[in-house]
Amino acid sequence: MDVVEEIKRKLDLAEYIGRTVPLHKSGRSLRGLCPFHSEKTPSFYVFPDRGTWRCFGSCGEGGDLFTFVQKRDNLDFRGAIRQLAAEAGVQLSAEAAQRRSKIERLGGVVSAAVDYYQRRLRDPSASEARDYVREPRGLTQETIEAFRIGWAPDEWHALHDYLSGRGYGEEEALAAGLLVGPESGGRPHDRFRGRIIIPIADERGQFIGLGGRSLHGEEPKYLNSPQSDLFDKGRTLFGLDLTGDAIRATGTAVVVEGYMDVIGPWQAGYRNVVATMGTSLTEHHAALLRRYAKRIVLAMDPDAAGLAAAERAGGLFLSLASPELMARSARSAEQLTRGAELELRVAPLPPGKDPDEVARDSPAAWEKAIAGALPFAEFLLNRLVEAERPESPLQARQVVDRLRPVLLAVADPVERAMYVQRIARRLGVTEQAVLERVKQGAHVPRGPRAAPSRAEAPSPEQTLLAILVQNPLLRAEVRPLPPDLFASALDREAFLRWLHAENGGDAQPDDPVADHLGTLSRRRLPPFSPDDARRAVREKIREIGRDRLIQRQMAVTEELATAERTLGANRVAEVSNEVWRGALPPDESMALAETVIEELELGLSIHRREESTSRR
Ligand SMILES: [Zn+2]
Repeated sequence: MDVVEEIKRKLDLAEYIGRTVPLHKSGRSLRGLCPFHSEKTPSFYVFPDRGTWRCFGSCGEGGDLFTFVQKRDNLDFRGAIRQLAAEAGVQLSAEAAQRRSKIERLGGVVSAAVDYYQRRLRDPSASEARDYVREPRGLTQETIEAFRIGWAPDEWHALHDYLSGRGYGEEEALAAGLLVGPESGGRPHDRFRGRIIIPIADERGQFIGLGGRSLHGEEPKYLNSPQSDLFDKGRTLFGLDLTGDAIRATGTAVVVEGYMDVIGPWQAGYRNVVATMGTSLTEHHAALLRRYAKRIVLAMDPDAAGLAAAERAGGLFLSLASPELMARSARSAEQLTRGAELELRVAPLPPGKDPDEVARDSPAAWEKAIAGALPFAEFLLNRLVEAERPESPLQARQVVDRLRPVLLAVADPVERAMYVQRIARRLGVTEQAVLERVKQGAHVPRGPRAAPSRAEAPSPEQTLLAILVQNPLLRAEVRPLPPDLFASALDREAFLRWLHAENGGDAQPDDPVADHLGTLSRRRLPPFSPDDARRAVREKIREIGRDRLIQRQMAVTEELATAERTLGANRVAEVSNEVWRGALPPDESMALAETVIEELELGLSIHRREESTSRR
């Protein structure tokens, strides 16, 4: 959970500022005397909708909850987080540290179990397990060692006794899922009995769980460690600790479903493969892989994927069962790759074959499948077109109708146009005909609706930051920008850190600024030339300025409306005439007159800005 977000959610900005500054409602905003400069007419506004505040008086300060506390209490961003976390009752590093130490302890006991099981595979009594690993699976000693494959003897307390002999507590072994506590109470026993043990590590090589393969076909065939604080299938990719380098080197991560589909190709020399361990590819997986490579190739049997599980996990949904399910698949792929700048492809493996078999038995077929992997949507479209040889215009129309939901799920217009072109060629019709048919049905959604995008429209501030972070050459040019161009303290801090060329790569954990910079660096932007980027930066800065003026105008307009209601429209017109002619307003109308002046100035400054923009 993001601490900054959590604090913002727990503390109401207007209520919080209201404790320091008496505020009065003014339309959709609140107004009060600015605490940061001395004034008699309130020009300090709080905008609850946006979670921001700004003084339109002489100090011109503004920001969000965090900048307010920074300015009021003279704190840096970290200090403001600490203070607000305490006030909001959000636990900070103490809890995080506690959690980390617990995770380390659990990791320690899993590592001990891995050592133990690995040694047991060498026991004289484990000959059957060794035969199984070497014969039908054909694993070499090198592979067995690399993956630390082991053997859990068919005993109830083998690991239990070993761990307690080494001083590990039962409680930790239970929490790590190595032991099972009987429901009736009593002595816990080993979870894995009579199984080949395949240790599961995180990307750094820290063991976090075990997979156990039954030897004689006992169910379940594969038994995994349960989810725990340590082991989360939705965030773990099996094999990544051993294959990360090859994934980086090849620029491609091949994603499969099972342990053996990683181990087999690894032994055959294909070392850029990871497995999802029975879940679908989640957005956490995608974010993790993004650190290694841009291209993800799915080498899975699409028709066998656990669809219900995929939906539950909010991950990739891949089904070829019907055009509707395929459209849903395409939408889920869009969602997964959007923002992460990932390229998701599907490798068409020979039907009915495991990646393991293909890589070991026919390397040429493996290489061909990976190299020929198709973009996700194209793979789906091909499947839909494949069986068709339309012989009449009516049939061609029907094919296009079936393709339409998948095409509509493709967000990128260039990509979509390319598919339309290919489909037209395959069906022997014109591109125009396909396009029109697709457009015709566009307003009639078929099948389940796309899940709404979770990302809200990014603010101009955040887009500006993303452009900057991704174009470090602009650093010198934007150095003179005032950091308070950014209303959010997080944006502001990120800007400052970026400006000083610290991209937060090796920052400490729980560093919201580094996380934010990371997110910004992954935001998908149009392909910019340096000049485009420069232009876009200028445009965003203007947009932010305009935004702020409009915000101010709205506040002032609301003041005027209130004045009209209480004093009458005629009186307001009278005063504004007096002001316009430069006549001194009567005392009691002073505040109103000031508002009118503000209004006029504001109108002028917007006008001036637009002029200078259009002249450019
Ligand atoms: Zn002020």
